[in-house]
Amino acid sequence: MSTLQPVRGTDDILPDVKRAHRRVEEEARAVAARYGYAEVATPILEFTEVFARTLGDTSDIVTKEMYTFVDRGGDSLTLRPENTAGVARAFISNGLHHDLPLKVFYSGPMFRREHSQLGRRRQFHQVGVELLGVAEPLADVEVIAMAAGLIDALGLADRVVCEINTLGDGASRDAYRETLVAYLSAPEVKGRLSPDSLERLDRNPLRILDSKDDRDREVVAAAPQMGDSLNAESRDYFDAVLAGLEAAGVAFRRNPHLVRGLDYYCHTAFEFTTDALGAQGTVLAGGRYDGLIAQMGGPATPGTGWAAGIERLAMLIAPPPAPRPIAVVPVGADQAMDALVWTQRLRHAGFAVDLGFSGNLKKRLKRANKINACAAVLLGEDELARGQARVRDLDSGDQTDVALDGLEAHLARYNVDDHG
Ligand code: ATP
Ligand code: MG
Repeated sequence: MSTLQPVRGTDDILPDVKRAHRRVEEEARAVAARYGYAEVATPILEFTEVFARTLGDTSDIVTKEMYTFVDRGGDSLTLRPENTAGVARAFISNGLHHDLPLKVFYSGPMFRREHSQLGRRRQFHQVGVELLGVAEPLADVEVIAMAAGLIDALGLADRVVCEINTLGDGASRDAYRETLVAYLSAPEVKGRLSPDSLERLDRNPLRILDSKDDRDREVVAAAPQMGDSLNAESRDYFDAVLAGLEAAGVAFRRNPHLVRGLDYYCHTAFEFTTDALGAQGTVLAGGRYDGLIAQMGGPATPGTGWAAGIERLAMLIAPPPAPRPIAVVPVGADQAMDALVWTQRLRHAGFAVDLGFSGNLKKRLKRANKINACAAVLLGEDELARGQARVRDLDSGDQTDVALDGLEAHLARYNVDDHG
C-alpha cells in the first residue's frame, strides 16, 4: 500500500545513515564557527513570493520543483527549496542591515519536486553559509576557503575539486547573453539543441550552459565563453578572487562553462564536484548574489555564500561507527534494582550504558554482544556483598573484580565523550 511507504523522494534516515549526516553537519558547523559564522534557522515554510520573486520565474525550481499550497487562511505557502532566499527575507524582516557584515550558517531540510534518484531527493538536507554586506572579492575567497575547509575536514580533499567561474556584472552578462544567443540561434546549432534548451533560448539562454543533456553539452563545448565578454571591472574582480584563493592555499580549477541555476547570481560562481557520484556529482555550490536583497525589496546589500548537499557528502565518507555502550548485567533477578541504580549512576557520570529489560544472564550477555558493547558490568550477589562488580572486557574476554567505589575510574578507559 502506497500509504505505508514514505512519499517518493523522501527517506527514513536510519541510524547508520543518520550518523553520517550528523558528521557532515557537525564538521560544517565546526568549520563555520572557526570562521565566525553564527548559526541561524529560518522557517521551512515561507510565503511563495519569497522564492518566486527571487529565484527567477524561469528557474527550474520555480517553474516545476516547488511544493506550493494554499493554506486555510488563503495564503500561498511553499516548503523552502533552498535557504538563501529565506536568510535574505529574514535579513530584511529583522532589519539586520545595521549590523554588517552578517555571517550566518544554517542546516536543515529543503524540498524540491525533482525526478528522484540516488543523491537527488525531494526532501534533502543542506548545510550552508551566507555572508551579507561585503562587496569585496575577499568575501568570496572567505566562503570558498570555508567550503574547502569542510571538504578537507571530511577527508575528501583528494576526491572533490573546486570549480570556479565568473558570471561578471550585469553589463558583462548582458553582452555575453547576446553573443551566446547569436551563436545558439544559427540554424545548424539550434537544430542540435534539446527541446528544453530550445525553450531556454528565449527565456533564459545562460541556463543552457548548465544543461545535463548530452546534445546540449556538445553544443556548449564549442560556444563562445563568458570570459571574452567580461568588462574590465568584472575581470579585475575575478582576478582578485583567484589571487585570494591562491594566497589562501585553496586549490581550484577554472571552468568557463560553469553557471548557477538561479537568476540572482553575479560574478563568482563555484561548485565542488566529484566523479564518485555519477550525475549527482556536485556536492556543494554557491556564488555571489549582489542583487538579491534589493530584488526582495530590502536595502541594496551584496551577498555571497554556498550550500552543500548533506546526502551527497554523507555518501562519500566512511560511515562513522556506532558508539559502543557499556552493558550493565544483573547476574540474577535479585540484582535487578542494583543494576538499575548502577546504570543510572554511570549514565549520570557520562557513560553510554545499556540495561536490558529482561532475560537471564546468558540472554543479557548475548544482547551485550549484539549491541557491540565494549564491556559488561556484572552485578552478582557475592560480588555486591563484597562491594564489588565484575567487569568483563567484551573484546578480550578478560574479567576483573573492581571495587564499586572505583567503578567509574575503572570504566573510564571505555568512555568515549562523543556518544555520537
Ligand atoms: P544540481 O545541479 O545537482 O541539480 P543544484 O544546482 O540544483 O544542483 P543547488 O541549488 O546549488 O543545487 O544546491 C546546492 C547543493 O545541494 C547541490 O550541490 C547538491 O549537493 C544539493 N542538492 C540540490 N538539490 C538536491 C536534491 N534534490 N537532492 C539532494 N541534494 C541536492
Ligand atoms: Mg537542481
